[in-house]
Amino acid sequence: MQVLLGQTSEQITTIAKQTGAPSFTAKQICEWIYKKGATDIMQMSNLPLKLREKLAESYTVGRTLYSKEVISADGTRKYLFEYSGGVLVEAVLIFDGNRVTLCISTQAGCKMNCAFCATGKMGFVRNLYANEILNIYSELNNRCREINSLLKIDNIVFMGMGEPLDNYQEVKTSLDILTARWGYALSPHRITVSTCGFLPKMKEFLDNTQTDVAVSLHNAIPSERKDIMPIEKAFPIEKVVELLRQYDWKKQRRLTFEYIVFNNLNDTARHINAIARLLNGLPCRINLIPFNTVPETLFVGADKDSMQQFAAKLKSKGFNTTIRQSKGADISAACGLLSTKERN
Ligand code: SAH
Repeated sequence: MQVLLGQTSEQITTIAKQTGAPSFTAKQICEWIYKKGATDIMQMSNLPLKLREKLAESYTVGRTLYSKEVISADGTRKYLFEYSGGVLVEAVLIFDGNRVTLCISTQAGCKMNCAFCATGKMGFVRNLYANEILNIYSELNNRCREINSLLKIDNIVFMGMGEPLDNYQEVKTSLDILTARWGYALSPHRITVSTCGFLPKMKEFLDNTQTDVAVSLHNAIPSERKDIMPIEKAFPIEKVVELLRQYDWKKQRRLTFEYIVFNNLNDTARHINAIARLLNGLPCRINLIPFNTVPETLFVGADKDSMQQFAAKLKSKGFNTTIRQSKGADISAACGLLSTKERN
C-alpha cells in the first residue's frame, strides 16, 4: 500500500491520472488530505465511488494516531508516535495563552551526538518520511481542536528529535506541503527550522525554502565548540556563518542563534567577545536557552541571574537577545530531552 499523505500536488496528479480519473480530481484529493484532514479514502465523498474503490486498492491516506500523551504541570503535552518497524518518535505541543507551538521531529534519534543532548545519547535509528513528519502535524492539529475548539497549531519549530538538514529531502517535501496553497497553506514565517550547522545541505535549504532559521551555536570558540558539538570538526561554525552572510536577513526571514548557557563553560567575557566577533553585523537574534539537565551528562546550566547578566552583556554589544522560557521539563519534553528510552 502506498500512502497519499506526503505526496505533492504533482505526484497526486500523476496518481489520479494512473487511476483513470479526470485531472480536476487531483485538486479534490489534495483538499481532502490537506485541508479537510481525511483519514480514509472512502470519506472523499465528491469522488465517484468507483474511483475511491480503485484508489483504495493501492493507496491509503496514511494516518497514524499518536500512541501516548503525557501532560506537564505547565500544560505542555508530549506525544509518542509509533511508526513502521516499531520506530518511536516524540513531538511536543507548547501552549502560550491561545497560541500553540508544535515542536516536531525529523529523525528517530540523531547522528550529531551533541554532548548535552538526550536524543544524541540514544543514537540514530532512521530518517522520518515526509508523510510521518506531516502526520505529526496533522494529528496534533486535530488534537488541539479537541482540547479547545479555538486552538490550532500557530507555529512549528523543527526542534524535536534529529537534525533536519541530515534528512533534507523529506524535510523539504514536508515544508513544501506545509506551505503550499494546495497543502496546509501555512506561512513559512510560522515555521522555524533549527540546525546544528549541517553545512552540506545548508545552501540548498536556504535557496529553496523560506522558513525562519535557527542555528545551534552554544559556543563561538571553535576549539571549545568541537568539545560539545562534534559537527564543528567537520563543518566549522565560521564556515556556516560565512554562508549565512550571503543571504538577506533584513526582510521577512528571521535568523536566530540558539545558545544554551552553561555555568562557567561558555558564559565568560571571552565567550561574549567570540560571539560578537563571529556574528558582527549579521542581522540576527540570539536566543539563550536554559540547560535542561540530561542525566547521562555532567553539564550544569547557568542560573537565572547569570543568564540575565549574560543577556545584558550581549545586548550591550548590540545583539537582540532573548531568553527562552523552558517548558515541559517535568515530562522530559523540553529542549534536548526528547529520547524514547524509558527513563523510569
Ligand atoms: N539538530 C537540530 C535540532 C534540534 S533542536 C539542532 O541542533 O539545532 C533542539 C535545540 O535544543 C538545539 O538548539 C539543541 O542544541 C538544544 N538542546 C539540546 N539539548 C539540550 C538540553 N539538554 N537543554 C537545552 N537545550 C538543549
